[in-house]
Amino acid sequence: MKILITGGAGFIGSHVVRLFVNKYPNYQIFNLDKLTYAGNLQNLTDIESSPNYTFIKGDIVDQEYINGLFQEHQFDAVIHLAAESHVDRSITDPMAFVRTNVNGTCNLLHAAKELWKADFTNKLFYHVSTDEVYGSLGEEGMFTEETKYDPRSPYSASKASSDHFVRAYYHTYGLPVKVSNCSNNYGPNHFPEKLIPLALNNIKNNKPVPVYGKGENIRDWLYVLDHARAIDDVFHKGKVGDTYNIGGVNEWRNIDLIHLLCDIMDQKLGRETGASRQLITFVTDRAGHDLRYAIDSSKIMNELGWKPSVNFEEGLEKTVDWYLQNEEWLQEVTSGHYQAYYKEQYTR
Ligand code: NAD
Repeated sequence: MKILITGGAGFIGSHVVRLFVNKYPNYQIFNLDKLTYAGNLQNLTDIESSPNYTFIKGDIVDQEYINGLFQEHQFDAVIHLAAESHVDRSITDPMAFVRTNVNGTCNLLHAAKELWKADFTNKLFYHVSTDEVYGSLGEEGMFTEETKYDPRSPYSASKASSDHFVRAYYHTYGLPVKVSNCSNNYGPNHFPEKLIPLALNNIKNNKPVPVYGKGENIRDWLYVLDHARAIDDVFHKGKVGDTYNIGGVNEWRNIDLIHLLCDIMDQKLGRETGASRQLITFVTDRAGHDLRYAIDSSKIMNELGWKPSVNFEEGLEKTVDWYLQNEEWLQEVTSGHYQAYYKEQYTR
């Protein structure tokens, strides 16, 4: 089987690519990635010379190129992760999110339909999405697969739109699709613009740790390898046409999470207890900041037998250890453009 994985040089994509390359030596894995600021081939050095792995640098927004790529390689399946993924960036440049997340997804859907339309048997288009499409929760309740879409940021609106197009191709053309909507991921190789790696990097460098508002927003956190395992399960065992919610059953207020991270860092860096907490700096809240996300994963747990395997404290400690041991990776991704972005975002 020839599988195209898009966005495989990014945070989650790199873990998915590694899992598939190592676990399924009979599959040919093609990793298509534009290598934006978020894509990094350093994430995959351990598998780059595997005989069943090929990297392709390319842009999913280029329709002609995508059509040609599908014709050339005759893929049997797609696992689509390529996206602009950061909410803050979507507020400053929403059109980039429309181009990649909406147009890019439609280009892939169209190319897959054209290639497979004579016979959809044993073909699959698997779209990886976010729980942010469901909007914001109050103190009670959880998102289920039936929750009405209510995206509130340009990022979540672009992902919601792409989800709708994927389902439209299923209903209109019979394209075999699956969709999963996952909560916040954390773990190794996470670009340090997102809450956990950004805080970790700043604590390490004794810099202020920005926390939006009063840190009261609540997110559900899942270790990235557990998400990769869930994607493997949905890909192989999920029902065509179905959606699966994936979450960690692990809700944290941002401020409590940052306190925990500070305490782990104090211990790892041999600092006095409480020292890192002094770095916490509350900054003006993100525009339209969703209060709470919580996800009901009972469908994937009951139907596919998946469940999160990594306890949060343990996963956070593993993540801290990875960043402390991969100083070079962190230095490389936080040089150049990152500095300008950081200044613009957090020093207003
Ligand atoms: P990421 O930003 O780390 O990686 C995205 C990857 O896509 C990068 O390698 C980038 O180079 C590539 N890419 C971007 N634009 C492209 C284009 N036009 N053509 C080809 N490649 C392009 O993102 P991530 O956090 O790994 O998220 C991956 C997917 O999972 C996204 O679709 C995201 O919406 C979804 N998701 C993420 C989370 C999370 O917590 N990070 C949670 C749920 C769902």
